[in-house]
Amino acid sequence: MLLQIKNLQAAIDGQTILNGINLEIKAGEIHAIMGRNGSGKSTLSKVLAGHPDYEVLGGEVLFEGENILELDPDERAKKGLFLGFQYPVEVPGVNNADFLRLAYNSKQIYENHEELDPLDFDELLQNKIKLLEMNEIFLERSINEGFSGGEKKRNEILQMAVLEPKLAILDEIDSGLDIDALRIVASGVNRLMNANKGLLLITHYQRLLDYIVPTNVHVMVEGRIQRSGGKELALELEKHGYEVLEAGV
Ligand code: ADP
Ligand code: MG
Repeated sequence: MLLQIKNLQAAIDGQTILNGINLEIKAGEIHAIMGRNGSGKSTLSKVLAGHPDYEVLGGEVLFEGENILELDPDERAKKGLFLGFQYPVEVPGVNNADFLRLAYNSKQIYENHEELDPLDFDELLQNKIKLLEMNEIFLERSINEGFSGGEKKRNEILQMAVLEPKLAILDEIDSGLDIDALRIVASGVNRLMNANKGLLLITHYQRLLDYIVPTNVHVMVEGRIQRSGGKELALELEKHGYEVLEAGV
């Protein structure tokens, strides 16, 4: 089992947002969490990644059987957990390619593998940006600084492609992408997925799930998973809207 979330409750600024989340993701599975704005989807992703603003009130999160709630975000990342943010942050003054190399090498060290020097890393990076059909100009700019919404999303997926996490959580990776960019990003994500890895897609719209087909779909309502099913559940949502499902019909 890659990820087990047991009765997870969490708050921000004293306000409880997650009211007992239960979710299990096995290797090879692609889960999608859908739900209205404000239902707690991004809160869940940030709690999983270890964002310091969120307070865990109860429950457990096991990653490959180990409770990770006490670990710092970078330790979680080294273990193979990746979060692609809904709103990626700009980091002025930090070169994108340098940052990617540092992140890559710190994971290499953690896994007792060789670090790559700038030249060898550049070769790896060139392959990754080809996969995502990105312009290499983005490598030499500061992280996300002045990037459009879609470029930031593509840059998140570039990080994922470099780090090759065991479990990637992608929060609304489709927002801000036009249909061509969505196709490219989705095909990149699909190629990074395999039988040893898991994916948690958070999305508002069914559209993304035409390109990255989930094995499991969950609907979040007020910080709980209200309903779970297969990929047909997303189509049902698209057809009937959230209201019908929330009412439990
Ligand atoms: P989603 O991603 O499903 O749209 P979020 O997890 O972003 O939902 O937000 C869930 C709820 O948490 C919302 O009601 C939002 O207003 C609230 N929330 C998010 N951040 C804060 C904060 N810093 N202080 C108080 N409430 C917050
Ligand atoms: Mg959100």
